[in-house]
Formats: sequence, C-alpha cells, structure tokens
Amino acid sequence: MNPQRTAVIGGGAAGLTAAITAAEQGDSVILYERMDRIGKKLLATGNGRCNLLNTTPRPYFGQGDFARRVFFLMGPDKQITFWHRHGLRVWEEEDGRVYPATFQAATVLDVLRFHLERLRVEVLTGAAADGLRRSDQGWHLSLAGQGEQGPFDRVIVTGGGKAQPKLGSDGSAYGLLLAQGHRLRTPKPALTALETDRQAIRGLSGLRVKANVTLMHGTRRGAKADGEVLFTDYGLSGICVMDCARDALPGNTLTLNLSAPLGYHARSEVLGELQRRRNIWRGEPASRILCGLVAPRLGERLAETAGVPLGGRRAEQLSKDELDALCGALQSWPLQITGKRGFDQAQVTAGGIDTDDFSPITLESTLAPGLHAAGEVLNVDGPCGGYNLMFAFGSGMLAGLNGRQALGRNQTSGK
Ligand SMILES: Cc1cc2nc3c(=O)[nH]c(=O)nc-3n(C[C@H](O)[C@H](O)[C@H](O)COP(=O)(O)OP(=O)(O)OC[C@H]3O[C@@H](n4cnc5c(N)ncnc54)[C@H](O)[C@@H]3O)c2cc1C
Repeated sequence: MNPQRTAVIGGGAAGLTAAITAAEQGDSVILYERMDRIGKKLLATGNGRCNLLNTTPRPYFGQGDFARRVFFLMGPDKQITFWHRHGLRVWEEEDGRVYPATFQAATVLDVLRFHLERLRVEVLTGAAADGLRRSDQGWHLSLAGQGEQGPFDRVIVTGGGKAQPKLGSDGSAYGLLLAQGHRLRTPKPALTALETDRQAIRGLSGLRVKANVTLMHGTRRGAKADGEVLFTDYGLSGICVMDCARDALPGNTLTLNLSAPLGYHARSEVLGELQRRRNIWRGEPASRILCGLVAPRLGERLAETAGVPLGGRRAEQLSKDELDALCGALQSWPLQITGKRGFDQAQVTAGGIDTDDFSPITLESTLAPGLHAAGEVLNVDGPCGGYNLMFAFGSGMLAGLNGRQALGRNQTSGK
C-alpha cells in the first residue's frame, strides 16, 4: 500500500510535532516553511530556555474547551512521554513549568530536526504557501512564486497566528483556511506589554518589583495575576502584566498591590507598618518612611499618587490621613492603561480560526476532509507558563497521528 502523502504548512512547534507523528505512522511527509529555517520562534521561547509545557491545569481562552479536549488525548503526561521517547529529557519546576533539561530552546529544536531527518521528512524552507485547492487526486498547494505542489492526501496547516511576524507567523495561514469555508475570530495581540500614563511612572524605567496586579474595567475586576512587574519608558511589562493584557482596553486601569508580596495583606497590617515607621523615623526626613519597603524612585511616585508631600517634612508630621493615603497607594496603585503593544511584541495571538469546525481528536476539518489545522492558527490561547507551546505541540502531535494511535488503531509501523 502506498504511504499517505501529507503536507505540513509551517515549521513551528505544531508543524514539527505534526510532521514527526505523521511520519512515524508511515506517512510520506513534506514540510513547507516560509522562512529560511524552521523553528525560529521556538528558539526565542522562554528567553531561549523554552518553557515546553505546564503540568498545572489552567483554563485556556478563546475556545478554551477545545484545548481541554485536545489534552484529554495529548495532555502534559503524554507530551512528556513524547519528549522522553524522542530523547529529550525534561525538568519540571515547582510551579509545574517544564523545560528541556539543558534549559536551551536550541536543544528542543535539535531533537525535532534530527527526528525529521531520521524519518526522511522533506523540509522545504523559503516556501510560503499561498493557496490550497482540492481535486479528485487530492489536495494541491500553491507556493508563492514557485507554482503548485501535490497532490496530497492530507494537508496540516500549522502556520501560527500573527504574533511576532519577524519570526515567521504573519497571519497568512488564516487565508488558506478561510478559502476552505472556515471562520476567523478577530486576531488580537495577547501576552503583551501595556502602555500606561507615562507621567505616573516617570523615572521608573528599568525598575522591577513584585506585585499583585488586577485589571479593572471601570469598577469591574478583570484578570488578576501575581509576579514581577517591569517598568518601561512606555508602561509596564513582565509576565503578570502580560497575563492581564489579553482583555485590556485603553481607559481600563491596572492596579498594583505592592504591599501583599511584602507580607502585608490586610489594610490594618499596612497601616500598622507605616505607623511603626513614622515612630522609627521621628525627627528624620519623612521620605524615610518608605525606605526599605520600595525603591526610592517608586516611593516618590507612590507619595505623589497618594497626594502626600514628603519633601522638606519630618516623619512625625505625617498625619493619620496621610498614612491612610500612603497605605491606599501601596495596596492599590491605579495606573491608567492607554494602549497595548501590538503583534510585533506580543508573544501570542488571541483569536484565530474557529475550532467548532475541527475535530479535537484528529484536528481535521469537518468542512473539508483531509484538511487539518493545529497550534496557534486556531482560536485558542493560554496564559504564560508553557501553556501555548503545550497546545501547539499537543495539537500538532494529534494532527499528525490523525486518530490512528490516539484511538488505539495503530496500523502502520514507523519508517
Ligand atoms: C518571544 C516569545 C516567547 C515565547 N515563549 C513561550 C514559552 O516559553 N512557552 C510557551 O508555551 N509559549 C511561548 N511563546 C508562545 C509560543 O511560542 C507559540 O504559542 C507557539 O510557538 C505557537 O506554535 P505554532 O506552531 O502554532 O506557530 P509558530 O510557532 O508561530 O509557527 C508557525 C510557523 O509557520 C510558518 N508559516 C506561517 N505561514 C506560513 C505559510 N503561509 N507558508 C509556510 N510557512 C508558514 C512560520 O514561518 C512559522 O515558522 C512565546 C512566543 C514568543 C514570541
């Protein structure tokens, strides 16, 4: 029997695992990548360390239920088994983040590349797919400036979303699926930095602080996250800020609780600490009241927000109301959001191709048999912490398998 001919469009996380699992099932696989090399984004992940996946379940956004169903068959344990089976040892951190044991994204790409070679997957770089059509013979793929390829029994579209187009994902994969009747949920940048009122954070660029952050849509609370906030010249960055960026709109506020990570949770605890400090620094400059609690530059901005002038005064001159106001600023510093960084800086795309028209078992289209899609091109996105690669890798693995091993119908031995 002739092997099934499979084309994979996109050599990122999802495409690489799809090509491997398809070839291991006996498919004859060609992988098309528009960039000059595969896996460019993979090399940039996790600051070059590649946070592969996360063993702590957290909800996904977009059509998050689709991710849950994908993980039913290809969850963290199965993915770790995949990596170990392919020779990549992994290391799990206490918070569930899983990295390659080398802590190098390049190792992950090497492992994937070497298996593509072992399995004789043909990898064509500089090959941008710009059209798909179906004939009686199967699927045909047109490459920009290079004519048509095919026919194929299956095409797996893993071209990613629109985040960081310089790494390859320029949104062109959407068009391939839209032309086959699929629907697009508006792509938006997610996991990106926020622009805020610059006056409120002036002089703080480069400073890092621990904070509990909350996105406020007027008086309604939105996303919440804890962690390190990085002040930039345009606003705020850091993982917890990026985790709140998905639904942030200009006019919303991001409130920073700077006292909770220091161990002062209740208002009475924060106020008690400020009163203690006022006593310690009696007779000394009032600015010392925040010394050792927050960086001096940050202390100035907080006092400004609280409307408490510290310059030229002694600590004991601070009134109860002023301590109250400082306490409020430490517990809930509201920074007005003016915008968010776009696709050129976002790590992930929210939105994408509607998953209702795909099987979560095979990732095959219910509109066009033989057409599959996996990874970020679909309307699924996750929080920071390995969740996005986990969906890309896992859905890619299932798309390659095409229900064979996943459903226990393993008929063809690997090459
Ligand atoms: C800086 C950065 C750090 C990140 N760190 C992490 C992390 O540590 N952990 C985590 O879970 N997630 C991380 N992410 C997110 C994660 O990298 C993505 O969610 C994931 O790579 C998506 O995989 P994908 O294969 O679907 O798409 P992509 O990785 O974007 O790959 C798509 C590929 O398809 C190619 N392509 C696109 N269109 C075409 C076409 N028409 N024809 C041919 N080829 C095409 C592209 O060139 C690209 O190589 C990070 C993202 C960035 C930008």
